[in-house]
Amino acid sequence: MTRKRPVLVLGGTSEGRELAGALVDTGVTVVSSLAGRVSNPRLPAGEVRIGGFGGPSELARWLVDRDVMAVVDATHPFAENISASAAQACPDADVPLVRLERPGWTQGPDDNWHWVDSLDAAATALVDLGTRVFLTTGRQGLASFSGTTNAWFLIRCVQAPEPPLPPKHRVLLDRGPYLIEGELALIDEHRIEVLVTKDSGGTYTRPKLDAARSRGLPVIVVRRPCPASTTTVTTVTQALAWLGRNGYRG
Ligand code: NAP
Repeated sequence: MTRKRPVLVLGGTSEGRELAGALVDTGVTVVSSLAGRVSNPRLPAGEVRIGGFGGPSELARWLVDRDVMAVVDATHPFAENISASAAQACPDADVPLVRLERPGWTQGPDDNWHWVDSLDAAATALVDLGTRVFLTTGRQGLASFSGTTNAWFLIRCVQAPEPPLPPKHRVLLDRGPYLIEGELALIDEHRIEVLVTKDSGGTYTRPKLDAARSRGLPVIVVRRPCPASTTTVTTVTQALAWLGRNGYRG
């Protein structure tokens, strides 16, 4: 019996899991790839491989070795390196690539958002906005805040962050989805004055923005990195349609 050619889903996101589940349901062979950053990841349906590929040329080799028929890059909007790697490897291996990226968040009239280009710029912007900070940008890149000595940080992330960290902080290990009630309780309990977030988009972590608006707090929002020129869809349904249009069926 010949082995069915798989679709590779570069994941680590809720959309990646949802897509893998939908493809398995329709009889498409899927391999999901996770970076291996989190020790107890939520696993998608179908085959899962964990760990980096070793750069674009090794990814291209992997695509050829596994006879991959298409790649869906469903990684997080801030996971720049793996997306760049896929954008280089797929043409090299002659494998079609589509990017599945959820839309960013949109500021409403009652929001007090301050857009910045980087975590370093977020640390600088804090100076004028508050000294009790809810920091929700993930556990990577926290060194940007390590020099901020006059503020206290509630750092929320999935896995314990590595130093250097800001000198005054508390780490809260948690994983979404979150509810607005819980976010309001955290803001009140820790007397938060300012929220810092990446423009991750999606619904899982959106309630912190609604809670900040409800308490009249400023929010520092880190802009997404520049998008690659890869064909992009924004929903799992669109990704499935793209795969169907291009003939990748079970
Ligand atoms: P990154 O900077 O783009 O990736 C660094 C390296 O990790 C890549 O060069 C690649 O190694 C490996 N890698 C990343 N994602 C991979 C995947 N899905 N499968 C196999 N290897 C992968 O990414 P990151 O910001 O560290 O994020 C790591 C993972 O966490 C991503 O899969 C992303 O979807 C998820 N995530 C990230 C964020 C965020 O804020 N950045 C938030 C939520 C979830 P090689 O070069 O060796 O192939």
